[in-house]
Order: sequence, then structure tokens, then C-alpha cells
Amino acid sequence: MSQLLLLLGDQLDHHHPIFQSLDTVQDTIIMAELVSETHYVPHNKLKIALIFSAMRHFADELKQRGFKVSYYPYEDTEGWCADFKQLLEKQLSEKTYQSLHLIEAGEHRLQEQFLHWQQSWSIEVKIHPASHFFFSVRQMQDWFGGRKAPRMEHFYRWARQKTGLLMQGGEPEGGQYNFDKHNREPWDANKTPPPPITFPIDSSTQNVLELVEERFADFPGQLKHFDFAVTTKQAEQALQDFIEHRLPEFGAYQDALSDKNSKLYHSLLSAYINLGQLNPMAVCQAAERAYYEGKAPLNAVEGFIRQILGWREYVRGIYWWQGKDYADRNALRATRALPDWFWSGNTQMRCLQKAIQSSLESAYAHHIQRLMVIGNFALLAGLDVKAVCQWYLAVYIDAFEWVELPNTLGMALYGDGGLLASKPYAASGRYIHKMGNHCQHCRYKPTRMTGPDACPYNALYWHFIHRHRERLEKNRRMGLMLSQWQKKSNEEQQAILDWAEHNLGTLSQL
Ligand code: FAD
Repeated sequence: MSQLLLLLGDQLDHHHPIFQSLDTVQDTIIMAELVSETHYVPHNKLKIALIFSAMRHFADELKQRGFKVSYYPYEDTEGWCADFKQLLEKQLSEKTYQSLHLIEAGEHRLQEQFLHWQQSWSIEVKIHPASHFFFSVRQMQDWFGGRKAPRMEHFYRWARQKTGLLMQGGEPEGGQYNFDKHNREPWDANKTPPPPITFPIDSSTQNVLELVEERFADFPGQLKHFDFAVTTKQAEQALQDFIEHRLPEFGAYQDALSDKNSKLYHSLLSAYINLGQLNPMAVCQAAERAYYEGKAPLNAVEGFIRQILGWREYVRGIYWWQGKDYADRNALRATRALPDWFWSGNTQMRCLQKAIQSSLESAYAHHIQRLMVIGNFALLAGLDVKAVCQWYLAVYIDAFEWVELPNTLGMALYGDGGLLASKPYAASGRYIHKMGNHCQHCRYKPTRMTGPDACPYNALYWHFIHRHRERLEKNRRMGLMLSQWQKKSNEEQQAILDWAEHNLGTLSQL
């Protein structure tokens, strides 16, 4: 009897072992574009278009490999099919299958449904591990469960030893695991990063773009920026393009902020890795090869591998280890509404304007824009944790809950009270000034603390330190900041707090 495989839009990995056990004549793969997946937040149009187009191309590739694929485009499902349950019930009522195969989902929302079907449906339901990660959920649960304070750096060392990446005879390449001290160069405005490779729009993508423009008109994003890889082959070309042209400088300018450019030397590979088109091990091995061939320095290669083998796996581990309730955490009780300019980019703070505009229009901002510009502002201003998380989930091309939530709630907003980050990623305008050239073009001055010209990050920073001083006093890594605050006179403190309150009362006008 035949088998049925449900394949989701972020499971586009030709190397998944499930394909080896499917019979091309008897078995069916079902894929569908569903309203339940497009509407739970107002996803960026570019993200919807990329996922639909990549799914359609992947289905074609599977057909070329000989598989039988039942593909349901959005135009066909929107009228009658609310979710995967309905889709599968229809499919299972039309034909008898011996078993239903699922690949574990990337978020609790769907994974819970999968487990429920497994328990309650009469057909045999098999759930297979996802293949676009280094470690299985069980391996991660074991690693996290056995530790009191599971920090990324410890995880990363363990992961390097397990995979052998950049290891020589059991020792890390270059004698240390982390070369981050070479990776904190501020932006050099004389540099011109090579523009990333772009891909032409074929007729299949054109159909998707027209569909998305029509059906998702109110969602953020500008489809004129669509130039993504939509096939596995193109994603591999994007990887090669990064390795050859941007990896060598990736490390040095990883934390830099440029007023002109949001992409710098970043890889722009996250969406392809998260969709399954690129395997993380293959990506890291390509970078490792570049190092051994003398094409990229160790600080760049190690820094890049740490992002994927370290951070990407670690945040996924946090997501599954902490469970569904993690999304409800709000350790700092941050509840202030998001100013409207989160949805327009119309703020006078230049760094935020640039980062938000890039996020909304092209569905991309690099890590430091996400963390130290947008996230930092949300942290300092005490913006509502759930609303901020929803915003991040909606706007970015690579946003899936398993990766977005720990990064936003845990890393950027300290909403888990320090489970993920050993201290809040809070910084004043001085940091943003130091790392790039936004401030030169900004109406606010990073050197001023109070008054209409003062960079709002400054007073908000001290307001944050002051209002959370009891919690922060327990954190040794915050000692210096607290003592700097305490050294200020009462009058100075009061003036700063008053100005911060003024900013908080007029957030929408900043
Ligand atoms: P590069 O700078 O070139 O980094 C290389 C790769 O490392 C990325 O492609 C990505 O696969 C991985 N990576 C780097 N940092 C992280 C990280 N902290 N967590 C997971 N993977 C990482 N990443 C997502 O993929 N989806 C998200 O929804 C997402 N939301 C974020 C929200 C916040 C508040 C923050 C601070 C970070 C978030 N990140 C997210 C992580 C990171 O910012 C993006 O992966 C990165 O900016 C993607 O661009 P890139 O491919 O050019 O990355």
C-alpha cells in the first residue's frame, strides 16, 4: 500500500533520508500553500513570495526526480482549505494510504498538531527528524537538560568537537575556539562591499509575485526587491558567491553599521538554510575549505561557522528545551505599545529609520541592526515583548518561530531574565556612533544626553539601568554600568530620567 508524505515550505531538502524510502510509483508527496500559514502574522510579501516560489520549484525538482507530487497552490486552497488538517483529511478520504509521513515542524503550533494526529488518527503517522540542522531535537534536549546555565560558548565548543569543524587532533584550529576580538571593526566608509549575487525572475516566480501582490496587498514589503534564489542550485550559487567575495571580510565587519548599506559582508544565506535548500554542514564546510585553501582568514571563517554551528543550533535548542511557555515570558515586564513608525520607518533616529526601512522593504536587516539598533531600542523603551516578537516574525525573510523567538525575546529583549544572554544587550547612542556612520546623518547628537538634540538612546539607556537596577545589581557583568550611574549626582540623574520620561511620552514623534 502507498505512503503519503506531507512536506512543509521550510523542509525543502533534497537530501532528507525520507526520499530514499519513498516509492516513486506508489507514494505521494503533498505540498500546499495555505491561508493558515500566511496569515498568523502579517508576513512580509517577500517572505511569502520566496516560500511559495521555492516550494513550487522544489515540487518541480521532485517531479523531475520521478516522485508523484500533489501540489496545491494558494489560488486553489484559499476558498476551502483552512489548514493542514483539512488538507490531509481530504487526501486521506480520496485514497487509502498505509502511513502518513511528517517531518518535525519548526514551531510548537504545528508540531503539537502532528503529535495529536499521531495519537488520534487511525492511520499510522510517522514523524521524522528535520535534516537541515546539525543536531536532533533529542540531542539538544540532552545537552540543555544536563546544565544549570547552558551558555552558547559552552555549547559551541561541544558542537565543534562533535562535528570536527575547524578542529585539528582534538584541538581548535589556531589554538582557540573564538576569534571574536578581531571581529569588531567599526564601519570603514571607504569600503565598497561586493554586491551580492541576484537571480532573474522566471515565469513561475512571476506568477507568485502577481498572486502575492494581489492577495497580500496590505502586508509589508516591496516585491520590486525580489531577487532571491528560488532553486537549490541557485541557493548553492549564492553560497559560492558569498564564500568567494564576502567571506574574507565577514569577520572584521560583522558588527559594523553603514548608513548606505544593510548587507555589507553578510552572507544573506539564512533564508536558504532555514528553508532547507542549503545544508548547514555543507555551508560550514565550504567556509572551512576557503580557510584551508588560504582564501579567507581564520577570524572570518571561525566567526561565520560560530553563527551557524553555534548560534543557530543553540537558539533552536533553547526553543525546544524551553517549550511553548517560553513565548509568554516577560522578565522585565515590558508592555509599552510599539510606536507606529515600526510599520513605516518614519522616525528621525537615522539608525532606526535605516534598519526598519530595510526590514520592511527588503525583509532584511543584518544582525547588529536587529540586535543593537531595533532590539536595543525596544529593550530600552520597554516595548511590549509579544508585540516586538510578532513584528520580527512578520518582517524578516528568514523568520520562523524556532529561530526568531529566542533571538528576539531572549537575546534582544532579555525577556527570559538571562537564560539565553548573560547580560542585557543594552547600549547607548555611543555604541551606535562607534560602530558606523549613521550619526553623521542624524538630527540627534550621540554626544548629548538631554534636550531636543540629544540621541534618545542615551537617556533611555540610563533610564533602563535605573529602572532595573535591583535585578542588574545581581549580575556581575553589569557592575561597571551601575557604578557609572551611581557616580552621577542626584541632579544629573534626575535630569536624565526626566528627559527619558519625556522621550517615552513622545515615542511616536522621535
Ligand atoms: P550572516 O551575518 O551572514 O550570518 C551567517 C549565518 O549565521 C546566518 O545566515 C544564519 O544562518 C546564522 N546566524 C547568525 N546569527 C544567528 C542567530 N543569532 N541565530 C540564528 N542563526 C544565526 N535569524 C534567522 O534566521 N531568523 C530570524 O527570524 C532571526 N531573527 C532575529 C531576531 C533578532 C532580534 C536577532 C538579534 C537576530 C535574529 N536572527 C534571525 C539572527 C541573525 O540576525 C540572522 O540570522 C542574520 O542576520 C541573517 O542574515 P545573514 O544570512 O546575512 O547572516
